[in-house]
Amino acid sequence: MEMEKIHEGLDSGRCMICHFIENDESELLIKWAGRGEQIQQGLRNRESFCNHHFWRLKKVMSDNTVAALGVFLLEQFVYELDGSDAPLTEAWLRDYQDRRSFSGRIDCPVCGTLFEREREYINAAVDFLESAGNMPVYEKSRGLCMPHFIKVFLSIRDESQRQRLREIQKKHIDALVGELQEFIKKKDPSRKWERTGDEKVAHWRSLEKLVGRTGTKWR
Ligand SMILES: [Zn+2]
Ligand SMILES: [Zn+2]
Repeated sequence: MEMEKIHEGLDSGRCMICHFIENDESELLIKWAGRGEQIQQGLRNRESFCNHHFWRLKKVMSDNTVAALGVFLLEQFVYELDGSDAPLTEAWLRDYQDRRSFSGRIDCPVCGTLFEREREYINAAVDFLESAGNMPVYEKSRGLCMPHFIKVFLSIRDESQRQRLREIQKKHIDALVGELQEFIKKKDPSRKWERTGDEKVAHWRSLEKLVGRTGTKWR
């Protein structure tokens, strides 16, 4: 990965891996949103989006496209409910989920691509941190979220570098806790303007630090 992109990630003010994946996700969804017919075709071929990406897709599609997709999908429901002699049992539900993959399986095309990208970004972060002189540069950023920190930490080979990364993680979290305390202290309208740029967004940064961006998986 280009150094320029790494630095852009470090300057994003959040976990750089979450930042990269969020950008990729938006791009992928916009691409999919422009392919209403292909989505219908994909669904006919029993590919589908997970629950998370169905909802994200709605944000980048026009209302009319969402409505057209809704008609298409719901008509399939009517067809199956109408035409099937089989009773609606647990097995039917399982079969239904398998085919529609509302269950968030990896065969969601967006999840599948993002999973591969995440691997690439983790490797790029490891390469960057293992190169001489880069730890202090990383230390100046806001650091990684906990899920990405653990994944990167486990891939770093040198024990002393691992320990350094661990100390930096603790330092980043300490700083964030301080910013959250300031955020709370300055909650009254008369003092809100005193919040610094970092403090203003400390609340959502704390959620991302804990669990990673929305959709991040621990495994
Ligand atoms: Zn992250
Ligand atoms: Zn998905």
